[in-house]
Amino acid sequence: MPDVMTSHAKIFVSGHRGLVGSAVVRQLQRQGFTNVVTATRQELDLRDPQAVRQWFKDHRPEFVIHVAGKVGGINANATEPADFIYDNLMIHATVLRASYECDVRKLLYLGSSCIYPRDCPQPIKEEYLLTGPLEATNRAYAVAKIAGLVSCEAYRTQFGCRFISAMPTNLYGPHDNFDLVSSHVLPALIRKFDDARRAQQSTVTVWGTGQPRREFLFVDDLAEACLFLMQNYEGPDTINVGTGEDVMIAELADTVRQIVYPGSEIRYDRTKPDGTPRKLLDVSRLHKLGWAHRTPLMEGIRMTYQWFLEHASQHQRR
Ligand code: GDP
Repeated sequence: MPDVMTSHAKIFVSGHRGLVGSAVVRQLQRQGFTNVVTATRQELDLRDPQAVRQWFKDHRPEFVIHVAGKVGGINANATEPADFIYDNLMIHATVLRASYECDVRKLLYLGSSCIYPRDCPQPIKEEYLLTGPLEATNRAYAVAKIAGLVSCEAYRTQFGCRFISAMPTNLYGPHDNFDLVSSHVLPALIRKFDDARRAQQSTVTVWGTGQPRREFLFVDDLAEACLFLMQNYEGPDTINVGTGEDVMIAELADTVRQIVYPGSEIRYDRTKPDGTPRKLLDVSRLHKLGWAHRTPLMEGIRMTYQWFLEHASQHQRR
């Protein structure tokens, strides 16, 4: 019988307060898993090897869904590269090591679509990893995430650990970071249009030229894919998780405008970077395994905006 997660299995979700971690916990609860363990940043500093080892010894998780990490948008990555590389290298090294040492039965590691080479052919196939130079604006982050991914392979090879990995595209949804400086484009746009609506300002500024193309996956869909892979996938190769469809930033901005503040106009600030011209994942491997996303972009943005409105007062409205 394959060693799958049963409803009472002890499952550690790292980073449960973040966009992805909170969605994974929601999904586990939805699917009837009753023994999910988490640790806040105050309880456990995932960058601290000693603390992580001790926590694993004390709690003995059987399965690990490792989604913690320092993440941020184009500006945060460009201005805090030292923190991005240090935090992520440490977090991945400690969690993987402790999982190996404490005999975790299976672990899922999440990469990110921005760790593929900047100019690789589109849509991006899993095998393009490490075939060319990285995008400069998030190189430090990418190198740390690649180190985590290669670590999974290494633990599989050397110790036979069941460490699998998935490569999600750009994500969005409840519990995202809506801060204007450090966030990714989709929450930033929701926040910008909502701020303009409240202030009755007619123009909203979008960074760059509006020409780059990006793919967006609703985070609850990603969480479902994570559990699907935990239960159904054993291979050494990473698996792209996305929708297989991309949009121009200008189209995205217009969609958010229509939902949040149809009376406004868009202005482009060309002094801000565009970043990589296109990022679209080839999701045929995932589709072949039997999983496809379900939430259309428009619906996902509506749900995210609703969540933002309900939580805006206590959430990053600085
Ligand atoms: P990336 O996918 O790593 O480049 O990260 P982002 O999500 O931060 O940016 C995606 C694209 O959206 C880039 O071309 C940005 O220039 C563009 N963009 C437009 N307006 C904004 C904004 O207000 N915030 C962010 N973060 N990006 C924006």
